[in-house]
Amino acid sequence: MPATPTPPPETLRPYLTPRHELLWQETELFADQYVGPRVPRLEHSTSKFDRRLAQLMGERGWFGVTVPAAYGGMELGHVAKTILIHRISVMSAAAGAILQATLIPVGALDHFGTHEQKTQWLPRVADGSVLMSIAVTEPTAGGHIGGMDAVAERDGDEWVITGSKAHIGNLHIADLHVVVARTGEVDDSPSQALTAFLVANDLPGVNVTPYRAGHGLRGFSAGRLDLDQVRVSADQVLGEVGQGMEVAQRSSIRYGRPNLAAVSLGIHDAVMSLTTSFLKARPRYGATLLDLPVLQDRLGAITHRLHAARVLLYHAAHLLDQGIDCDAELVNAKYSNHAWAMQSSQDAMELHGANALDPDYPLQRLIRDIQHTYAPAGTGEFQRIHLARAVLSAASAAGPST
Ligand SMILES: Cc1cc2nc3c(=O)[nH]c(=O)nc-3n(C[C@H](O)[C@H](O)[C@H](O)COP(=O)(O)OP(=O)(O)OC[C@H]3O[C@@H](n4cnc5c(N)ncnc54)[C@H](O)[C@@H]3O)c2cc1C
Repeated sequence: MPATPTPPPETLRPYLTPRHELLWQETELFADQYVGPRVPRLEHSTSKFDRRLAQLMGERGWFGVTVPAAYGGMELGHVAKTILIHRISVMSAAAGAILQATLIPVGALDHFGTHEQKTQWLPRVADGSVLMSIAVTEPTAGGHIGGMDAVAERDGDEWVITGSKAHIGNLHIADLHVVVARTGEVDDSPSQALTAFLVANDLPGVNVTPYRAGHGLRGFSAGRLDLDQVRVSADQVLGEVGQGMEVAQRSSIRYGRPNLAAVSLGIHDAVMSLTTSFLKARPRYGATLLDLPVLQDRLGAITHRLHAARVLLYHAAHLLDQGIDCDAELVNAKYSNHAWAMQSSQDAMELHGANALDPDYPLQRLIRDIQHTYAPAGTGEFQRIHLARAVLSAASAAGPST
C-alpha cells in the first residue's frame, strides 16, 4: 500500500491551484509505489540505468506536462513541471533527473518548432513513446557554447553533422536529440554561428557511448554522444539557421534552471526529513538528540534554508506561468537551491555523527547526488555574474544617484 501523501506546505499555497495539489498527491503516490522500491538496486549497480522508470513516467503523460493540449500534452505549465520534478526527486534525484533532462528539449521544441515539427514529435513525447535529450556541451569547450567544435554543413536538402557532445542527460534512452552545431564561420558572432537540429537517435552515424555510472544520480543515463557525418533533412532545423545559441540559452534559462533547482529542492527535503527522523529516534539523557537545544538550533538552520529555497523556486515557476520576465529569479532559484542543499547536506552529515559514514545509509546517496546540480544550466560562477550584471544594468538604467 502506498503511504499517505504529504500535503504541500502552506507557504506554497499562493502558487498552487487544486489541479496542482492533485498532481502533488499523484506524484507522491507514484514515487512511493514505483520509484522508492527501485532505489537500492540502482544504487548498487554501476552498469545499469533505468529505462523502465522513464517509461512509467512517460505513460502518465508527464513528459508532456508543458506541451499544449493541441499537441496532445497536459498543458499544465511550469509550476506543475516543478511539482513533478521536485516530488520525484525527494524519493530519487536520479528519477527526477530523467524527467528534468527530457523536459528541457521538450520546451525547446515547443518554443522554436514549426507546426509540422510539433505535429510530428510532440504527440509522441506527450504519450511517452518518444523521449528527448538536448546535446550542447562538448568535451573540450564545456559550457562555452560559442566555442563549440561540432559542425553542420549544408548538402542539398540535408545537413551533415559531425562532432562530439558530453554529459548528455538521458543519452541512452533518448529517441530524439536536440543537437546544436556550428553552421557559420568560427569568426562569426556566436549568436549567429550556431544552429539547432532535431536528430533521431536511429540515424546512421549517431553513436552513443556505453553507460557508466557517475559519482551520484545512479540510474540516470548520461554520457557522450558522437555524431559522424549524420545526415539530417533540412526540415529538422529547429528554429532558424543561426539561432542555435538562442535555442540553447533560452532552454537552459526557462527550463534548465528551474528543473535543476527542483532536483536540488527534492534532495534538500530528503536531507531534512532523514535528519529529523534520526535525531528524533536517537536516545540521549532520557530524551532524544532532538531535545537538545544546540541540535534544534542546527536543525533550525536547515529549516530556514529549505523554506527559503522552496519559496524562491515556486515563486519563479509561478512568474513563468504568468508570462512575467523573471530571469534573475530563475538564476537565484537555481543557484540558491543548489548552494543551500549543499550546506544542509554537510550539516546533516555532522548531525549524524559516524552513522552518516555507513555506505548504505541514504545520506551518502543524497550527498553524492547534490554534487550533480552545480554544473548544469549554468555553474555558480555564471549565475553570480549574471546576478551582478542585472543589478549593475538596473543601476545604470536608473541614472546617477544624487
Ligand atoms: C547532471 C548533469 C546533467 C547534464 N545534462 C546535460 C545535457 O542534458 N545536455 C548538455 O548539453 N549538457 C549537460 N550537462 C553538462 C553541463 O551543461 C556542463 O557541465 C556545464 O555547461 C559546464 O561545462 P563543464 O562541466 O565542461 O565545465 P567548464 O565549462 O569546463 O567549466 C569548468 C569551471 O570553470 C568555470 N568557468 C568556465 N568558464 C568561465 C568563465 N568565463 N568565467 C567564470 N568561470 C568560468 C565554470 O563555472 C566551472 O566552474 C550536464 C551536466 C550534469 C552534471
